[in-house]
Amino acid sequence: MAAGTRPVLSVVVPMYDEEEVLPIFFARMRPLLDAQGVSYEVLVVDDGSRDATAALLTSAATGWPQLRLVRLLRNSGHQAALSAGFRRAVGEYLVTIDADLQDPPEVIAELLATARDADVDVVYGVRSDRSSDSWLKRSTARMYYRLMCRLVGKDIPFDAGDFRLVSRRVVDAVNALPEDGRVFRLVIPWLGFPSAQVAYVRAERAAGTTKYNLRKMFGLAFDSVTAFSAAPLRLATWLGLLGGLVSCAVVVAALVIKIAGRSIPGWTSTVLAVGVIGAIQLICLGLLGEYVARLFQSSQGRPQFLVGYDSHEDLGHHTYAEATESRDPEPG
Ligand code: UDP
Ligand code: MG
Repeated sequence: MAAGTRPVLSVVVPMYDEEEVLPIFFARMRPLLDAQGVSYEVLVVDDGSRDATAALLTSAATGWPQLRLVRLLRNSGHQAALSAGFRRAVGEYLVTIDADLQDPPEVIAELLATARDADVDVVYGVRSDRSSDSWLKRSTARMYYRLMCRLVGKDIPFDAGDFRLVSRRVVDAVNALPEDGRVFRLVIPWLGFPSAQVAYVRAERAAGTTKYNLRKMFGLAFDSVTAFSAAPLRLATWLGLLGGLVSCAVVVAALVIKIAGRSIPGWTSTVLAVGVIGAIQLICLGLLGEYVARLFQSSQGRPQFLVGYDSHEDLGHHTYAEATESRDPEPG
């Protein structure tokens, strides 16, 4: 591909310690992409692998001009690796795909065709069959998607992971968000670009073991909740109010016991102090939480709206310009 021209397709592949699956992945991917008849780049984000992944990638790149390597200095996590890919990829369309061949590369052609035929900006790969995943993975995933639909307030395509195609407009809109700890599978539906879905059967991991341990899974769930909801911060408010109610009941009970002359000296005042002060503290914490939530929300810098159509303007690349313009210009 000549310097300066945009390839039609960028395939972004995050890889973390994938030495086992890497040769199989490339052997299957390359003929497919070469046969597509569109210009492409494969952008592999090496997420700080400690095994032979880096060396294997370097040697693969010598014989494959469309293969581009971006290496992160340290392991930063799957979503961060995807963020790096979004920043660096130059294609008109961008597909993100796992390295382990659970998402069949054959489906990429279908994603691209759907985007072009239906003229949509997002095409989700949706798993029609998860029987290859363990029971634990399936049930935690189901809980996750239910919760996220409620939090984001939009239809999150059920069982859509990070196998999807997006257009350049979406890539630019995502890159314009300054937020950290982006969870792509939530942010992209939240942006609200026109979308379509392509169903596929999720395969077993072709080689190697999962790079998503329980800690990383919880990390993703935690990022997802905190990115879209201040509910955890409000916990203190609710607990404070609950504590206040309980304190009131205890106060009445303590006074009744005192009037009945059955209390031990000092008991009433101690119970009162503990209950009331505890409730006040929690309510104050909750109040603080509300302000922290607002600060956090404004730090995420999410656009209030994105314009999809303006009869007096040729949109295309202008669509989300407002998203960036509406914020203060960056210094310098
Ligand atoms: N991955 C990554 N950084 C990490 C963990 C995973 O780049 O810290 C990559 C991994 O190499 C793979 C993709 O993210 O390409 C999905 O990971 P995996 O297949 O292990 O997750 P699972 O399918 O088991 O949920
Ligand atoms: Mg996998």
